[in-house]
Amino acid sequence: MPYAYDDQNIFARILRGEIPNDTVLETEHSLAFNDIAPQAPVHVLVIPKGPYVCYDHFALAASDAEIADFTRTIGRVCQMTGVQPGDDGAGFRLISNAGENGVQEVPHLHVHILGGRPLGRMLQ
Ligand code: 5GP
Repeated sequence: MPYAYDDQNIFARILRGEIPNDTVLETEHSLAFNDIAPQAPVHVLVIPKGPYVCYDHFALAASDAEIADFTRTIGRVCQMTGVQPGDDGAGFRLISNAGENGVQEVPHLHVHILGGRPLGRMLQ
């Protein structure tokens, strides 16, 4: 069962309101909030509200409405935080770690939006 969802994970608890978060944007199907240990001046996590473990799970199992909402939420957060490449000195990186090899810490799909400083090359 590759996509068994653990509803006690920290982001599930944030979604249930059991743990506070610093919300950037909330929509019908998604929540965006600041990372508790930011790796860059802009470090926002975007998660779907549904119980999806990782990106491939979401992409294969979520509804079109959830996928559209999630994608748009990422775009809107980029706009709100001023990291769009068109802005002065801006630009960003999206990361979504999955599973053991991807070193995923929290087993609820999240996309990291990182920006606000030069991020260096990651892939050679
Ligand atoms: P992963 O390694 O799973 O891709 O990233 C998990 C991220 O969640 C890390 O960047 C970590 O700092 C963040 N994180 C872990 N616990 C919390 C929490 O309780 N609140 C918030 N806002 N972020 C968290």
